[in-house]
Amino acid sequence: MTASDAPSPASTTEPIPIAVAYGDGIGPAIMEATLRILEAAKVPIAPETVEIGEKVYLSGVTSGMEPSAWEVLRRTRVFLKAPITTPQGGGYKSLNVTTRKTLGLYANVRPCRSFHPFVQSRHPGMDVTIIRENEEDTYGGIEHQQTAEMTQCLKLISRPGSERIARYAFDYAERAGRRRVTCMVKDNIMKITDGLFRQCFEEEAARHPNIEADMMIIDIGTARIADTPGTFDVVLLPNLYGDIVSDVVAQLTGSVGIAGSANIGDDFAMFEAIHGSAPDIAGKGIANPSALIQGSLQMLAHIGLSEHANLIQNAWLRTMEDGIITGDLVDARGRRGDAGTDAFANAVIQRLGDKPNTLPRSSFKDRANKAFETRAKVARPTKTLGGVDIFLDWDESGRDPQVLGEKVKALGTDRLQLKIISNRGVGVYPTGFPETYCTDHWRCRFLAPDGETATHDDILVVLKAIKDAGLDFIKTEHLCLFDGKRGWSLGDGE
Ligand code: NAD
Repeated sequence: MTASDAPSPASTTEPIPIAVAYGDGIGPAIMEATLRILEAAKVPIAPETVEIGEKVYLSGVTSGMEPSAWEVLRRTRVFLKAPITTPQGGGYKSLNVTTRKTLGLYANVRPCRSFHPFVQSRHPGMDVTIIRENEEDTYGGIEHQQTAEMTQCLKLISRPGSERIARYAFDYAERAGRRRVTCMVKDNIMKITDGLFRQCFEEEAARHPNIEADMMIIDIGTARIADTPGTFDVVLLPNLYGDIVSDVVAQLTGSVGIAGSANIGDDFAMFEAIHGSAPDIAGKGIANPSALIQGSLQMLAHIGLSEHANLIQNAWLRTMEDGIITGDLVDARGRRGDAGTDAFANAVIQRLGDKPNTLPRSSFKDRANKAFETRAKVARPTKTLGGVDIFLDWDESGRDPQVLGEKVKALGTDRLQLKIISNRGVGVYPTGFPETYCTDHWRCRFLAPDGETATHDDILVVLKAIKDAGLDFIKTEHLCLFDGKRGWSLGDGE
């Protein structure tokens, strides 16, 4: 690199403090390689090491991170993290999930590009960015066993959470010069939760007429993206679907060893490789540092050092064009790479200032973080109570729904009357099919008479009657109307 190749901020800017964790397994080797490249490119950062991962877990800290490390993160607000090993056995909390939730890292951004023919891929043209909502959905970890046979996991989707990630996705598309955002949900089944995510996406899409917006049901969407990823641009997903689809798409580029990932919040951000600590190859000097390098370049763009990111990315692309790849990668002619971790990093450093000949040049743009609060608050709707679902654990009389139904019906009042009993969402009383398999978990739906509303006291009267009848209620769910609109789904047969 000549002096004129070095981006200007290096000489003018105070080093930006960042927290760095070397992690476990191959973590230290790929972090050293990555930081060596950043240093050679004269990136003005001041890394501060924090201890996280296996050693910390095994010392008895169930979160995998010492309180002192949290202090460093709070101060630096930017975290470059190598993969860690989660020890086997129970009791250890996922460090990633804790970090995302504690620091409010609501957006997970994973660019997945193919570098064909320098890295073999069946999808040469693909360049997809997956944006995954990172905090909500089933990842609240709110799970219960309710009966001997039944377990549940709560799926929580909020309007502020969905609005914020939709805004992030469109803003990302605009800043990155992307043309289309595709949202995938399963709102044909989950009309209320996935339906809200979709609604927020569509509301935001209407504010960005310059960006195409389309919707797909997650099952067909996943099939299409696995088959023809080159036809997608930016893809927005709720947490669980995003977890799965982002790994599928990263694998389609040719290897999980070359994709980085950013976890972005209003005040904090964390950058990492998408792969794990690869204990099977730790200490062998053969790990590919590219995914962590990619994560670090997303970090540079985030903190306003995109010129440095472009300098390094161009050198990295050129390195691969020159046939220098690590052993996890195969090129289009079937030749497996043989560069070790250090040799690969040295090759990138030697090419700082060079540009790729065939692959598109790097185009990182500064991504000074914006805060995406929820849109101006709409007036809170008027909430009324239309009834209650009372869930019972019942395993008597051969689980005959008619027996349970007659018993429960008699416990209704003129304020709350039994409408239907369903088992796993299928109506079994007053009508149903004898073929329907019934578990020990019954949902009894009580509704206020047409046009009337119920009160908490009305519910307590029914619950007391149920208890006095010797029935075991294990959960209640209020059936609320918002500005008169039903806020619950109808069961099959209702
Ligand atoms: P892994 O990603 O570590 O490894 C999967 C396979 O890919 C292995 O064969 C490995 O050798 C290979 N591989 C991964 N990264 C590579 C690289 N940079 N260069 C060359 N080959 C590479 O997944 P795993 O084996 O399921 O998990 C190992 C450990 O990592 C587990 O303890 C898991 O909990 C942890 N993990 C951590 C993170 C994280 O910290 N973000 C993510 C996933 C898994």
